[in-house]
Amino acid sequence: MMQFLGDPGTTRYDLRFSVMGIPVRVHPLFWLVGALLGSNSGPELSIVANWIGCLFVSILVHELGHALAARSFGWPPDIVLHGFGGFARYSPGYGYTRSKAIWITFAGPLAGFGLFAIVYCAHLWIRAGIAEEQPWAQTLTTSGAWPGINFAILQLEWINLFWGLFNLLPVFPLDGGQICSELLNARENHSGRIRAHQIGMITAGVVAAYFLNSSRIFGGLMFGSLAYQNYQIYTQLRRGYR
Ligand SMILES: [Zn+2]
Repeated sequence: MMQFLGDPGTTRYDLRFSVMGIPVRVHPLFWLVGALLGSNSGPELSIVANWIGCLFVSILVHELGHALAARSFGWPPDIVLHGFGGFARYSPGYGYTRSKAIWITFAGPLAGFGLFAIVYCAHLWIRAGIAEEQPWAQTLTTSGAWPGINFAILQLEWINLFWGLFNLLPVFPLDGGQICSELLNARENHSGRIRAHQIGMITAGVVAAYFLNSSRIFGGLMFGSLAYQNYQIYTQLRRGYR
């Protein structure tokens, strides 16, 4: 997904487990940054914990999309979740092609859209149950767990839809930026890479301006730093090109 810092390195507080045979490592900063982002939702610990759970599931599903696609080509993957998102790694082995790399990159947002669709269907089903005054819907919405479930449904919808869409923007190192770079590279090689970072710089700059203009400071800073990162790589590549 996003890789601002590269591999954050292992610590003794890392959480390790595997999903469908794919090793997953969670760096402690993941929980800390998640808690900081979640503290916007309210002061209650249960709300922040609920938000971190939604973030964790969403990012894991996104990375699993990349990882399962890589494994389907016979390239063993692993997943790291860290302070600013996460990434799925794989070593491309025998039979590497550009179209396979593009498919692996696209599979992350696709998995997120799949989770969005499941949660959205459940949401519609519950809403219909409430409208039809079904007994199960009344039991559900009057239970103590309902505010938490309702919050989780909205967060999962929001994260998986909008995060997936933002991730597909042609801004390196987001998934869309990597796809854009692969596509332009296929045609023009070095000048294609330069153009991909030029597109990334402009797109990220426009998105940052939009966020700052609507007082969304976190989004503004994030896309501002992406614009700067693309500008830096762009100037480095141009220098090498001349
Ligand atoms: Zn991704």
